[in-house]
Amino acid sequence: MAIARVALDCPVYSLFDYRLTGQEIQKGHLVVVPFRKRRTVGLVFDVVEHSHIETARLLYIESILPVEPLPETTLALIEFSSEYYQCPIGLASFATLPATVKRVRYAPPKQQWQYVLTRAGLELTPEQFPARATLQRRLRQSFLANRMLRAADLLALSSGGLRLTETWIKKGWIEKHPDNTVSIPELSLKDQPALTDEQHAAVVKISATLGSFSPWLLEGVTGSGKTEVYFRLIEEVAHRGLQTLLLVPEINLTPQLEERFRQRFPGLTLVGLHSDLGQAERCANWLAARAGEAKVVIGTRLAIFTPLPKLGLIIVDEEHDGSFKQQEGLRYSARDLAIFCARQRQVPVVLGSATPSLETYQNARSGRFGYLRLSRRPVAATPGVRLVDTRGMPKGHKFSEQVIKQLGACLVRGEQSLVFLNRRGFAPALVCGACGWNAQCGRCSARLVWHMTDAGLHCHYCGNQQHLPRACPSCGNQDLKGLGEGTQRLERWLGELYPRAHILRIDRDSTRRKRAWQEMQADIRTQRVDILVGTQMLAKGHDFPRLTLVVIVNPDAALFTADFRASEKLFQQLMQVSGRAGRANLPGEVFVQTQFPEHPLYQALMRQDYRSYAEDLLNERKLAGFPPFVYQALLRAESHSESALMSFLGHAARPPTVNQSVTLFDPVPAAIAKIAGKHRGQLLAQSFARAELQRFLSEWRLHLTANKASRVRWSIDVDPIEL
Ligand code: ADP
Ligand code: ZN
Ligand code: ZN
Repeated sequence: MAIARVALDCPVYSLFDYRLTGQEIQKGHLVVVPFRKRRTVGLVFDVVEHSHIETARLLYIESILPVEPLPETTLALIEFSSEYYQCPIGLASFATLPATVKRVRYAPPKQQWQYVLTRAGLELTPEQFPARATLQRRLRQSFLANRMLRAADLLALSSGGLRLTETWIKKGWIEKHPDNTVSIPELSLKDQPALTDEQHAAVVKISATLGSFSPWLLEGVTGSGKTEVYFRLIEEVAHRGLQTLLLVPEINLTPQLEERFRQRFPGLTLVGLHSDLGQAERCANWLAARAGEAKVVIGTRLAIFTPLPKLGLIIVDEEHDGSFKQQEGLRYSARDLAIFCARQRQVPVVLGSATPSLETYQNARSGRFGYLRLSRRPVAATPGVRLVDTRGMPKGHKFSEQVIKQLGACLVRGEQSLVFLNRRGFAPALVCGACGWNAQCGRCSARLVWHMTDAGLHCHYCGNQQHLPRACPSCGNQDLKGLGEGTQRLERWLGELYPRAHILRIDRDSTRRKRAWQEMQADIRTQRVDILVGTQMLAKGHDFPRLTLVVIVNPDAALFTADFRASEKLFQQLMQVSGRAGRANLPGEVFVQTQFPEHPLYQALMRQDYRSYAEDLLNERKLAGFPPFVYQALLRAESHSESALMSFLGHAARPPTVNQSVTLFDPVPAAIAKIAGKHRGQLLAQSFARAELQRFLSEWRLHLTANKASRVRWSIDVDPIEL
């Protein structure tokens, strides 16, 4: 008798057995089954003859969802992730599927449309619309900025957006096409640039490995033309009728990037897979990828699980980026899984970055990965980086004389500058000068941050918000002071220094509204913005052609934190920010205001020398016995009860069997010891051998599960990137 072994969306480490009623069930089918008095969707991992459960007690599979079964390779990937990352198979399976196909009532999606301006539409001017026709004007603006919109975008613009678009179709200003098939009118389809020697070498070497497993590091300074290399490879892969999966960091997947690809490949079906998409659209794109129709899939980390029957190449852009690591549930690294997939499917994988992670760099220098470099920019010059010693600066001054002069000169030239500070809010602390009181969050072990925009105190950990106190709650002193600076304070200072400049602040607060950041990016490119002030949101991949000056304000704090990865991350971030300067035909300059100009990190930044700093860091890591020379897993636990937490971690620290090749450290409080009223602690396990650590973890998990510490929530983070 046939039995289907099914993964269900619940935290159980095993599969569930169900009987078939003559259905043609295969591995990879999504099925509807009865489970705990309700109906739920399951994923079939196996079809077998016997169950160790009595036949009479087995329930029947109800129906099969109308989705092509997932291919074996995808099932194998899910199984591997579930085991490697110590996550129950059902949770792992369902973490990887688009929401829509997980529904009992799943029905294949309706036709989706894409809307684009026609040539006539492109020639519309704002003057053609009466001043009060704001929707018409906004619609035109939005089409010009985004080139292509979908129904959801139009509805997001206004409830009448879709209706108005339909009338514009009748006027011949807009065309609609079935989704995924559109070619955008060739607005500025540039000729392909002739490759530089380094680009050419990279393309030739990687192309030669198509059809076999081959991991590559493509290290190229920002603006060195990595994307151009990707283009050529994608072309080659598409030419062979195969698919390319391009993974990008969360924040980089902008309509601009998609547009750059669409312009380059007007004939190719390209789909995006990321969290900004509506569920229906995401599902439709996933189906197009699964069917092999989409030749290019651009997605964020989750896209690594997309079934791609004709996979020919995987590219991970900005491979060092932390957003490739999922931080909850199935805590996978999409970059590491990309390597797994590439081996499994026998295709090359290209990891691209200006500042590769030390893990990847070590793999390249030890010869496990092929190592390709793009050492210079084909068009713009590498930006000059200068260090400004702030130790001698008069108290209260935030910018050095030199920086003020440069910002002024940049304004006069009509170019853009970027002032980078990775701290949002007005001031990171509110203190009383009389008694030393400072505003703390009542629920977290963290200070409250003073925000100017709503005159409130915000907790950046639990989201708690309070009014600004009129006086010190401890001594009554009315003169409370904001200590330090956040982006809002910089914005204000800059406004006072340059009253006529257009200043735009970009951080999580100013971009909270959906699509706000996308609209702002369009503004930065097309409108007059003189000075950008912002956090790391501005650091990544964006290409602002008029931006020539970057000022980095006091990034020193990260040099002195407990996390051994802090300097690696800071260096990556500052290299990225520096790379924003002078992208087009205007030369760029970078000023770093620091109290430690002699620090090797800043010295390497000044020389734009990734390799020498990476070598320094690797030596340190080797001596200290840190990754990539050891493998780590972190047990994280939290509880409202501190004693329950401690006793759980105490139990965890005493596994029944000792593995000689695994070191188990003492339990310690997390970096933020309390968040939202929950105490947090952790315990680090470490080994020189990945396989030994894996063996230990699967036993350890049983040991942890056996301890029915009901008031403690815990999880194991394998290859954690934050301690
Ligand atoms: P990266 O992805 O490494 O940051 P890009 O691929 O975005 O760099 O390239 C930066 C700029 O240089 C782009 O405007 C791109 O069109 C241009 N570019 C890339 N390769 C060449 C080349 N071989 N010749 C001329 N321009 C190029
Ligand atoms: Zn006080
Ligand atoms: Zn809090």
